[in-house]
Amino acid sequence: MAGLHDKFGRAITDLRISVTDRCNYKCVYCRTGNEGALYGDLPFADYLRMARVLVGMGITKIRLTGGEPLLRNGIVGFVRELAKLRPQGLKPPSSAGANGTAEGAAFHATPSLEIALTTNGHLLADMAQRLKDAGLDRVTVSMDAVDPDRSARITRVPNGFDHVLAGIRAAREVGLGPVKVNCVLMRGFNEDQIIPFGMFAREENVIVRFIEFMPLEEGRTWAPSTVVTLDEILARMSEYLPVMEIEHGRSETARRYRFEDGIGEFGIIAPVSHPFCGHCSRIRITSDGKIRTCLFSVWDHDLHAQMRRGAGDEELAEFIRGVVMKKEERHHIGEADFVPASRTMVHIGG
Ligand code: SF4
Repeated sequence: MAGLHDKFGRAITDLRISVTDRCNYKCVYCRTGNEGALYGDLPFADYLRMARVLVGMGITKIRLTGGEPLLRNGIVGFVRELAKLRPQGLKPPSSAGANGTAEGAAFHATPSLEIALTTNGHLLADMAQRLKDAGLDRVTVSMDAVDPDRSARITRVPNGFDHVLAGIRAAREVGLGPVKVNCVLMRGFNEDQIIPFGMFAREENVIVRFIEFMPLEEGRTWAPSTVVTLDEILARMSEYLPVMEIEHGRSETARRYRFEDGIGEFGIIAPVSHPFCGHCSRIRITSDGKIRTCLFSVWDHDLHAQMRRGAGDEELAEFIRGVVMKKEERHHIGEADFVPASRTMVHIGG
């Protein structure tokens, strides 16, 4: 099988790179403790080499995450270097027979490369145009309330809301879209924001995605009762306007819905009530250069250590293939044998 596959036959095409575990926000569903930045980050050249090897192995989508990735000086330059991994001028094979040749392999090895970024949006307004010019395709902005006071209560950053809204609008204006806005719902904090976000999606022409709260926060305070489930979200939104489900890609994390009048789209990422591990296509590289094969892994695999000891690209590829064969089948949230992940979200990068 061409490309990178795990032992369950899942194609691994989606790489998430955390470029820092520092963050300028302190969201209640993530940074409930006082861990702060623990692992630090690497020179962009190291992430670039990792990405180059992985793109050669079949990765077609790279998402930059953190902590907060826009805190890293040089992030625009890093996007520009990643964009050079795209098949510049690489033409499809001249004839079907060429598929078995180096030309064909080279083309199929990197059919396309999408570069996206997830941010809390606080610094985005000033950087959107430069990121776009550097080759970024899309951004996803985390925002958990469409009310400034509520937003401040959740992020524990006063006056952040206006920055985030300006960032979303700037991203939309420069063409980093469709802009997606991720909202983690947490009972007791923002379950009353479902309909306001439906209105927001329609007014701002962005795709809002509600995310079920997962047990990945610092203080380990998660409980099933804090989860606002997909069924609840749909029932609530349907009280506002009729909605209909629309098709979504097999490895997409979100189920997609549109308002029946055709104005506005939203999604629901429901890892707790409707797990989607069966088609998981993701692996992650942490800010300190470790591979995580699942958000809920209890292991890290030290790719950067291989680089430090002088491994060549083929050795790195071999190491990665071995690690991917250890990828977990699924998470065990809410089950008796559930073991918390060895890292919390801010140190993984979503
Ligand atoms: S929990 Fe793990 S296996 Fe499941 S979708 Fe997320 S990363 Fe993939």
